[in-house]
Amino acid sequence: STVPHIDLNNGVRMPQLGFGVWRIPQDRTTEAVRAALDAGYRSVDTAAVYENEEGTGRALVGSGLPREELFVTTKVWNSEQGFDATLRAFDASLERLGLEYVDLYLIHWPAPAKDLYVETWTALERIHAEGRAKAIGVSNFQVPHLRRLIGETSVVPAVNQVELHPWLQQRELREFHAEHGIATEAWGPLGRGGDLLREPTLVRIAERHGRSVAQVMLRWHLQLGNIAIPKSVTPSRIRENIDVFDFTLDDEDLAAVAELDSGQRLGPDPDTMA
Ligand code: NAD
Repeated sequence: STVPHIDLNNGVRMPQLGFGVWRIPQDRTTEAVRAALDAGYRSVDTAAVYENEEGTGRALVGSGLPREELFVTTKVWNSEQGFDATLRAFDASLERLGLEYVDLYLIHWPAPAKDLYVETWTALERIHAEGRAKAIGVSNFQVPHLRRLIGETSVVPAVNQVELHPWLQQRELREFHAEHGIATEAWGPLGRGGDLLREPTLVRIAERHGRSVAQVMLRWHLQLGNIAIPKSVTPSRIRENIDVFDFTLDDEDLAAVAELDSGQRLGPDPDTMA
């Protein structure tokens, strides 16, 4: 496939573009993931709380593709944080996926009010040491959460998956990640399909390149060095979103997109999300 890889801090290689399956109902997930695999995606992002790990696993296992060509991410939900609960949640996820291992296991949210993410991380370290997750990381962690994790545990997260799009460019986090060897993964990379797709600056850049706004946004992520996991259930859009490796945004385009950073979140605030 034409998708480049990012080298994670433990030597694991992760496709820079993957397929997200949030909000795809279980009974439509197999079909959607199959369409993504047909289009050339090899990385799929799910989570226990999405309640579609079984549908995701069915498509992956049923594809007949060699396991080592696939990259599967899932996540431990907030209510399962804590050492023992996380080990159990991981076993349940593997079982639903029908896999022997995942490529990446993430703490879904820091949920700081619970004060369990450090303990939860030690469970992920165990799972990683056992080879049942090839890499471990976090999601929605802010700089103070990352500092504490790095200070109190032994494995630096390979990835932090955060809300990231032209309205929320996460400069401070991306700098922190770069200093500590943490890969930046963007969720909501298309602004969750909302008004950002009609943002005039992006529309102008898209027209100039003869591409869609979604493609321009994905190209922006790739050129920034982000991993992106756009979601769609529409086969033509699934294909469109991976057809981004034959054009390049120039410095002027990148500077114009940089101007759009308003700090506007489209999802929950990680400091208060329980
Ligand atoms: P997204 O930015 O990927 O937007 C998806 C929506 O954009 C689709 O539902 C569709 O309406 C629209 N869309 C997709 N392709 C399009 C195209 N080519 N043209 C026009 N519209 C298009 O948003 P998302 O689904 O929220 O995020 C992607 C993935 O990130 C999720 O599926 C999930 O795997 C992950 N995620 C993780 C977290 C987390 O807390 N870690 C939170 C949200 C999402």
